[in-house]
Amino acid sequence: MKIRGIRNELLLLLIELGRNSHPNEFVALLRERDGIIEEMNMLPGTTATESSASLLFDMMPLDTHLAGSAHSHPNGVLRPSDADVNFFPRSGRYHLIIGYPYRESDWKCFTADGTPQQIEVLA
Ligand SMILES: [Zn+2]
Repeated sequence: MKIRGIRNELLLLLIELGRNSHPNEFVALLRERDGIIEEMNMLPGTTATESSASLLFDMMPLDTHLAGSAHSHPNGVLRPSDADVNFFPRSGRYHLIIGYPYRESDWKCFTADGTPQQIEVLA
């Protein structure tokens, strides 16, 4: 399934989750419908640290509509950590990092290997 973009509404929700979880991280899985990322699932116990996030992905259900993941970086660094690059390939192709101070522009998308990826924001 080719991904055409992410719903603005979902993006704003993810940013709000980041803000509400601060100073902890949150981790969520992103799901697409008809090529548009518009749903997220929180994993159980996901006030996660970088190191525990990869364990959560081992419990992940097999899901053909899985498009990627989203998580927050309370330190504001919009760049994947080594731990991130290890778990990205297990959970789809599009990976959002949302960072402090959680303004509408404080996020970036990456591919599974950690390369910055443009993604369209759809109304
Ligand atoms: Zn991270």
